[in-house]
Amino acid sequence: MNTSPERLWEECLQLLRGRVPDQTFETWFKPIKPLDIDQKKLTVQVPSHFFYEWIENHYRELIAAVLQKVSGNGLKLAYSVVYTEDDHQVAPPPAPMGSNQVFSRQQQVESYLNERYTFENFVEGDNNEFARAAALAIAEAPGGTSFNPLVIYGGVGLGKTHLAQAIGNKSLQDGTARRVLYTSSEKFTIEFINSIKNNKTTEFSEHYRNVDLLLVDDVQFFQKKESTQEQFFHTFNALYQAGKQIVLTSDRAPKELSGMEERLLSRFQAGLIADIQPPDLETRIAILQHKAQEDGIEISYDIIEFLAANITSNVRELEGALIRLLAFSSLSNTDITVDLAKRVLREIIGKSFSSSVSIEDIQRTTGEVMGVGESEIIGKGRKQEVARARQLAMYLCREMTHSSLKTIGLHFGGRDHSTVVHACKVVEDKMQKDSDLNQQIKSVKHKLEIGQF
Ligand code: ADP
Ligand code: MG
Repeated sequence: MNTSPERLWEECLQLLRGRVPDQTFETWFKPIKPLDIDQKKLTVQVPSHFFYEWIENHYRELIAAVLQKVSGNGLKLAYSVVYTEDDHQVAPPPAPMGSNQVFSRQQQVESYLNERYTFENFVEGDNNEFARAAALAIAEAPGGTSFNPLVIYGGVGLGKTHLAQAIGNKSLQDGTARRVLYTSSEKFTIEFINSIKNNKTTEFSEHYRNVDLLLVDDVQFFQKKESTQEQFFHTFNALYQAGKQIVLTSDRAPKELSGMEERLLSRFQAGLIADIQPPDLETRIAILQHKAQEDGIEISYDIIEFLAANITSNVRELEGALIRLLAFSSLSNTDITVDLAKRVLREIIGKSFSSSVSIEDIQRTTGEVMGVGESEIIGKGRKQEVARARQLAMYLCREMTHSSLKTIGLHFGGRDHSTVVHACKVVEDKMQKDSDLNQQIKSVKHKLEIGQF
């Protein structure tokens, strides 16, 4: 190989840059250092074992393809993991026998952690996979990875506090950190102001600097509070220099925090930044199933799917819906049904079900369920499956809308009202014995109801 490892890797980077999001590029590819090259492999240095595993699991094929393109042969990638001093940090010695329990309970009170927030009950999805993996790596070796600080950012109710606290709980439980402190930027600010008032700034500093793991929630509230930022900057540095772990959460990306001192922002950005996005439908379903199971609630999949389909942006609301549903059902002493779920949703989303669906909605949805195009339903075609879908759509229009038979007929390619009457009769007759048809009716109605929110 007559090129240098630097040149070759630089070419790889150029290609990679265009193929992954900027954040991914900065986080995973920028820190890689090319070391050596021979006929068979390019050796690169990565900052930690976790880093190596993440790249292997997520980008192995991409890197292989890029290497192939750049080198023109099947050059392999080999890793060399740097171990910083911190990586060798060992867990603190266990507490003497018998005192363990007391020790951990005492710690929990002082840590301000809520035991409810654990990794075990944090449901993983595409939206949080990276943040969760980084959080786990940190809990296993606080201060011992290159991810310091870890900044978790994302919208309201998406699990930032849960993850931050899970790091604290796990570190205490596994003994990877002895002193853990969870706080919010607001609490930090208030305590700081009080310490000035009461002449206790030294105690304040000591309190925050005397930990192995500091978790600060919602750092966006530091915005525009200059002297608190100054104080936090010093706390941050003291901990950082002592190899202690810092975890921060924020409702927006660090670079979008305005009203923050530049030097503080650059500290925030020096570690690892991981975002949490809103969960997709599958993840929302999984979260609800998990919560229901946790609370021992018997609830059918239909209802779970119904809730998950309608509450889309926020896990806290999703949880709230489940809790409210439970309260409704026990207060009124009724089973949890889709109807009850609708009532709950109506309260949460504040929209009403009273508006009726339109003829067009029914035509489209029936078409979707029966695998027939909307235009075929309206058209003149006589193929059996088309006729069947058309009749069903007419029947549903009579059932679900306030339109007259004449109006319905007009919407179906200008057909006569007697055609509609006939269609309804055919469907009603078939419903007696055709279970496929009954299932299809159910599906169309279900889809239409969900669509109404
Ligand atoms: P944030 O701090 O981002 O506003 P929280 O961490 O307070 O959000 O999460 C809101 C609620 O949703 C909490 O009760 C939390 O346990 C729950 N939650 C969020 N994400 C998940 C998840 N992936 N799995 C299980 N529960 C979750
Ligand atoms: Mg929070």
